[in-house]
Amino acid sequence: MPTVHRVFNFAAGPAVMPVPVLERIQRDLLALPGVGMSILEISHRSTIFEAILAEAEADLRTVGGIPDNYRVLFVQGGASQQFSMVPMNLLAAGSTADYIDTGSWAVKAMHEARKVGVVHVAATTERDRYARIPRHEELTLTPGAAYVHMTSNNTIEGTEWRALPAVGDAPLVSDASSDIFSRPVEVARHALIYAGAQKNLGPAGVTLVIIRDDLVARAAARKATLPTMMNYATFAESRSLYNTPPVFAVYAVGLVMKWLIAEGGLRAIDAANARKAAKLYAEIDRTGFYRGTAHADSRSRMNVTFRLATAELEERFVAESTAAGLDGLQGHRAVGGMRASLYNAFPEAGVDALVAFMGEFERRHG
Ligand code: PMP
Repeated sequence: MPTVHRVFNFAAGPAVMPVPVLERIQRDLLALPGVGMSILEISHRSTIFEAILAEAEADLRTVGGIPDNYRVLFVQGGASQQFSMVPMNLLAAGSTADYIDTGSWAVKAMHEARKVGVVHVAATTERDRYARIPRHEELTLTPGAAYVHMTSNNTIEGTEWRALPAVGDAPLVSDASSDIFSRPVEVARHALIYAGAQKNLGPAGVTLVIIRDDLVARAAARKATLPTMMNYATFAESRSLYNTPPVFAVYAVGLVMKWLIAEGGLRAIDAANARKAAKLYAEIDRTGFYRGTAHADSRSRMNVTFRLATAELEERFVAESTAAGLDGLQGHRAVGGMRASLYNAFPEAGVDALVAFMGEFERRHG
């Protein structure tokens, strides 16, 4: 067999997958063991797929410590569709939803919510170019808010909440697309968590929604008016089998959960993620040649953003790093600079390689 060459993939999503998962998919792609058909070919109504879906859910529950009064839903449309589904299901006329504005994705979420109802911006760090997470005392929460929406990790700006905001009895809704299951998660402090799969959970094509039962009930009360496929109750009542789900993506997410469990679960992955990010931030901070864009207390462990002194140096950095097998380091086009995404499946060896490259690049250009 020819040796497979894999670069270090720092992309923000779709992103690197665990190699054992890719190998397993490759091995099983022509025929699932004992089934004689590919995962790409089986009916979503087959007992085989029902078992795959049930096992993926069970493993997600194990990994996330998801309590029994939460449903696990597999939805399509990406996290972007959740920007609409959350208010359509949960923001009733006459009530207000609080949004914490921490960056580009939060802005998009608010943009959709405003089409549905009243939005109050409970805090924003826009004036600081979203380089930090707001302090707790900056939050102005609406008494009796329909919910409070946060973005746990800001993929573009490279910031991440260290601790959940205190929102009292208000249902907390979190867009956890870019840091879900990167550390232990306090599910019970949330009412709803959503995440596109394509960073920490698996391939693109499925969106995970973890939703508390009382919110499903709120959604169920809107069946007469909400489009069926936009209603959380549809997914909860059918166990995500109202229509054809993204069969392959659900299967792959299940494999990633098995991998996470084998790696030691969220505590182990938390420690690994802390180590990887600390190594890279230490290199960024070493001399001042590189400049981290996020405030130190708000730095993301998933998306490490940094700049160099000039646009020309940054262009060179991207070109030379790519040539050196360090792929995808260019920052999001909205903010420029560099971004190294270090999701769960990203190997520590890749961080070591980047740190070595950065030191060498500085010697040549510093
Ligand atoms: N929220 C966050 C925090 C994201 O990082 C992204 C995608 N990068 C989205 C939402 C949008 O996700 P999708 O492309 O799945 O709609």
